[in-house]
Amino acid sequence: MNPGPPMALLAELTHRCPLACPYCSNPVDLVRRSAELPTEAWVSVLREAAEIGVLHVHFSGGEPASRRDLEALVAVAAEAGLYTNLITSGVGLTEVRIQALAERGLDHLQLSVQAPEPALADRISGYRDALAQKRAVAAWTNRAGMALTVNAVMHRANLGLLPQTIDMAVELGAQRLEVAHVQYHGWALRNRGALLPTRAQADAARAIVDEARSRLSGILQTDYVPPDHFAQFPKPCMGGWGQVGMTITPEGKVLPCHAAETIPHLTFEAVGSRPLGEIWADSAAFNAYRGTDWMSETCRACPRREIDFGGCRCQALAHAGDAAATDPACERSPMNAEFRQRVAAEPQSAFVYRRFSTG
Ligand code: SF4
Ligand code: SF4
Repeated sequence: MNPGPPMALLAELTHRCPLACPYCSNPVDLVRRSAELPTEAWVSVLREAAEIGVLHVHFSGGEPASRRDLEALVAVAAEAGLYTNLITSGVGLTEVRIQALAERGLDHLQLSVQAPEPALADRISGYRDALAQKRAVAAWTNRAGMALTVNAVMHRANLGLLPQTIDMAVELGAQRLEVAHVQYHGWALRNRGALLPTRAQADAARAIVDEARSRLSGILQTDYVPPDHFAQFPKPCMGGWGQVGMTITPEGKVLPCHAAETIPHLTFEAVGSRPLGEIWADSAAFNAYRGTDWMSETCRACPRREIDFGGCRCQALAHAGDAAATDPACERSPMNAEFRQRVAAEPQSAFVYRRFSTG
């Protein structure tokens, strides 16, 4: 199958991060600074990505501002004609750095917020005065004339403040708000018992977002990512495996999805081992679940097979023991009832913070 060029590159520059969010989707085994790709390797990746047709690069992490070469990498990406987005906690940014990023061609900044109240924001992020720093970063981003999205990852501990979170996104001058329930990979999976919303919370969140969308039409665009375990059908993970984008880890592995390393029978090629375009088109990992041939009978016969592409491979592996199974979050999966029961029975637990020392 000829996949066509990838549209997006998620460049995970580092796993270093001053915050310790329990909902983090980074792997539990975090990559150390000494194993990170050097600047020259990222420069080659960005140029190659543009050559093979990538349109957007999302600089992510960890906290990408932990890398001192962030400004230089943004400049290379912009010169190569890529649309550049910085996915950041805001910690580690100053007004001078934001101005420098804007001057080097950063198009868009996506700022994560944990909660609209200082004490709760600190408790969730495991970092003092997180909210004050985020307010400052939003103001600097607006002053620099860059587009701003606020990303609010929602879970049991902050869903009660969703209306205030939406109000805060408006106050911060965001054009777009992403209200996203936690995706249970990496550290988030370890914390599922502490984070899972109740059914009532999930239903209320949908209604609150719908109301805000109509009230704030023309002011704030609000996107909503529902929780898998209350959905009828799964989400189209990554827009289809190996169809839209690729992720490059801090140490340079090229993945079809940022959580793909949880599938142990796949091996992932590294940047520099062969051209990026070949890894995208020909590597075993990218071709493993591309298209529809690999699908279960249930998915292959389903009219939604090219809408959600059978859902999430990592979730299928984690719950059904088979990465090619129908995502158990789908009501048509034979595992769906068991999946919902298992999730509902998850015991509530305290946060396990995402820190290197516990990884
Ligand atoms: S989710 Fe939190 S801990 Fe994880 S990278 Fe983002 S800011 Fe850092
Ligand atoms: S059966 Fe497969 S393709 Fe159909 S909705 Fe469920 S996961 Fe998607």
